[in-house]
Order: sequence, then structure tokens, then C-alpha cells
Amino acid sequence: MNINRKYERNILLMCLAVVGLLGVLIGYPAELLAVFLLAYIIFQYGRVQQLYDWARLPDSDNIPFEEGVFGQIADIIYQSKKQRLAQKESVKYQLERFKKLISVFPDGVVILSLSNEIKWFNDQASRLLILKKEDTGQLINYLVRHPRFTHFLKNLSNDDAIVMEAPVVETNWSAEKIEIRVLPYGDDERLLLIRDVTKVERTNQVKKDFVSNASHELRTPLTVMKGYVEMLLASTTEDKPQVGASLRKVDQQVIKMQTMIEELLALSRLEEGKVESSNSIVNIRGLCEQIKTEFQLASHEREQSLIFDIPSNLNLKANKASILTVLRNLVGNAINYSDKGGDIRVGWSIDDRGDGVLFVKDAGKGIAARHLTRLTERFYRVAENNVKNKTGTGLGLAIVKHELERHEAQLIIDSKEGDGSCFQCVFPAVRIKL
Ligand code: ADP
Repeated sequence: MNINRKYERNILLMCLAVVGLLGVLIGYPAELLAVFLLAYIIFQYGRVQQLYDWARLPDSDNIPFEEGVFGQIADIIYQSKKQRLAQKESVKYQLERFKKLISVFPDGVVILSLSNEIKWFNDQASRLLILKKEDTGQLINYLVRHPRFTHFLKNLSNDDAIVMEAPVVETNWSAEKIEIRVLPYGDDERLLLIRDVTKVERTNQVKKDFVSNASHELRTPLTVMKGYVEMLLASTTEDKPQVGASLRKVDQQVIKMQTMIEELLALSRLEEGKVESSNSIVNIRGLCEQIKTEFQLASHEREQSLIFDIPSNLNLKANKASILTVLRNLVGNAINYSDKGGDIRVGWSIDDRGDGVLFVKDAGKGIAARHLTRLTERFYRVAENNVKNKTGTGLGLAIVKHELERHEAQLIIDSKEGDGSCFQCVFPAVRIKL
């Protein structure tokens, strides 16, 4: 091709020389050269036009130029067009494959724009959310009208999922409960994953009902047992120390079972949402005074200083009994899981985001990192911390987590083995009333 380009240029130079010579011979060199150049420009303009017309719809059978600069340009245009076509085909193929894969997916999938416009959905999504073909382009929150879903879309954060009632439809098949999860997808889209969790939720409900009913049924026999043990303890004479010691052990275990049952029932109530409003104005300093009185004896026995540093005007929009439960559990744990003589601080601070942090800090045993994520599970106890404290149930922190959740608050546990723990309850700024 380079040879062609040089060849073309040489021909042009030769023509110019011949025309110039001819002009000299007839006595009009400038005029003849001008006429020649004009004709040359018009000729090349025609070729550019031809190239332009072809470049709009380039096809291999009809390449206008094979040789020279124009041939080279036509070749580049044709190759890049071929490349683009191949890429388009491959993208189309991948898209078809993706759609096929998603359509056999057991879960519903909806592709949403960042402004919640529906871009695409598979058949399962159409069944679970009752979407129709013509809903593409509509805002999903206008079609799925459920307060939890609306709240969920507004306050999205990664890893979040909600379980809610499925939209109702009059067919033989319909889901009762669905789980919805959102994942980021590309730069400006989101993926909504919808799963039918009717069976799982039913099983969970059966489990919850069982625990709740069993706990309820055990309450009365335990109260009777406690009564008899107390009566026997009172009538035990000092000449039978072994009987007294055994009865005290039975009494301890009965108390532990009673605590466990009360805590299980409290958890059931929280899970079922059978709770009082969490919107009263509660003075935290006042609650702390109550906690101080309750735990004074226990902390004194263990030579621990219980220090409260809470502003007197700190009020939270909350439920009083819930905050008392939270503080009772956290302060009780701080006392139980600290050695003799340590300080226990209950304080308040505002974090970078303006949220309020009510914290309970101890200088106790601390907790190894591997346990931290599991502490709020029911019955989870750290074996090495519980050598002395055998009365715990492992339900306290699960209750704390639930009580905080109903205040849109979060429990953050900051602890290092052997270096104390800090349990932080982070309340959203809107709940703080100073
Ligand atoms: P428990 O009735 O056993 O105290 P919790 O749910 O309140 O149940 O606590 C779960 C476990 O977390 C406890 O058994 C204990 O091992 C550990 N834990 C809780 N608070 C502390 C703390 N302040 N310091 C060290 N370990 C703690």
C-alpha cells in the first residue's frame, strides 16, 4: 500500500511537471497549472463523496477503491465495521445466554435503574411480584405497594434483605411470603432478587410457636417447684448440711430455668412484634439511677466501681422498659464477666454521623474476635468466659439486639481478649432529644 501511495504521489508530481512544461511551451504556465489543479480537486472531491457514501453502509462486495490512499482508508473503515459487527454479535449472544440462564433461575430477578425504573424482569419475578410485560419502564415502588418495600428501597444498604407478604393474586399458585434482596449491578443499575420463602417462614413460625408454647407451659410447674424448694430449704435443719447444699443447688437451677423461660417468652414477644410503642420520651439519666441502685450490691460485692456519665438532659424517643432491659443486660454482663476491682463505665457520646451512642465499657476478660459476630445468637455463650458464671442463659444479648432493632438502633461490640469490652448501642439522630 505504501508503494501505491508513493506511486500516486509520483504520478501527481509528474503530471504537474508535464502541465507546467506544456504551459511554458504555449506561454501560459500559471493558468494551465491552475486549470489542472482545479480539475484535480474536483476529481478528488468526487472520490471523497463516493467514499463517504459507501462508508455509511460499508459492504465487502462494493468497496469503491482498492488502491492508493482511498483504498487504504476504505480498508480501515471496512475492517473496523467488521470488528464492531463481531463485537455486537458476541454481546447479543452473551445477552441471550444470560436471559436464558435467568429465566430458568428459581428466583425472581428484576433489573432496576438507580431511580427504580423496571428495565427487565424474568418470569418468576413476574409471578412473585405480579408484574406484566407492559410494566417495563414503570417505577417499581408504584407497582409493589408495601410499606416495608418502600422503606427498604429508600434506605438501601448492601446485604440487606426483607421478608414481606407477597402481593395477592387469585390463582392456584401463589406465594405467601417473599424475601427481597438488592444487589448493585453495573454502574447505574440494581438487581432485585425475589425468593419464595413461604415454606421456610411457615417452618420458622412453627418453631417459634413451639418455643413460645413450651416456655409458657413450663412456667407454672417451675413456680410450684420453686415454692417447694424454698419451703424445704426453710425447714432444713443445720445438722443436715448436705441436704441444705443440695437444695440450694436445685434452687439455683430452678432460678436459671425460670430466667431462661422469661427470656424466651420476651424474645417471642419481640419477634412477633407484640410490644408497646417505642416513641415515648425517656430520660436516660433517670434510668441509669435505677440501674445503679439495682446493681449497687452486686458491683460492691465484686469491688467494682460503677460509673455513670450521662448528661442529665439526655432524652431518647424510646420505650422505657426496652432501654431498661438493654442496660440491665449490658451492665449485668459487665459485672459478671469482669474480675474483681475493675471500673465499669456507662456513658454517652455522639458519633461522626450525628448518631447517639449509649455505651457500657468494662475492663474485664474481653472476648476473642471469633466469637463477636455470634454473641447475639440465641444461647451462644463463650465457654472460656463462663467458667465461673454458670447462671447465664446466652439469651441476654439476643434480647438486647431485638430491643435495639425496634428503635432502629444497632449493637456494636468492641472487644479484645484480655482487654475489656465496650458494648455500644447506636441510636439514630432522630431519636435524640437533648
Ligand atoms: P449470658 O446469659 O450468658 O450472659 P448473653 O447473651 O448476655 O448471655 O451473653 C452471651 C455471652 O457473651 C456470655 O455468655 C459471655 O460469654 C459473653 N459476654 C457478654 N458480655 C460480656 C462482657 N462484658 N465481657 C466478656 N464476655 C461477655
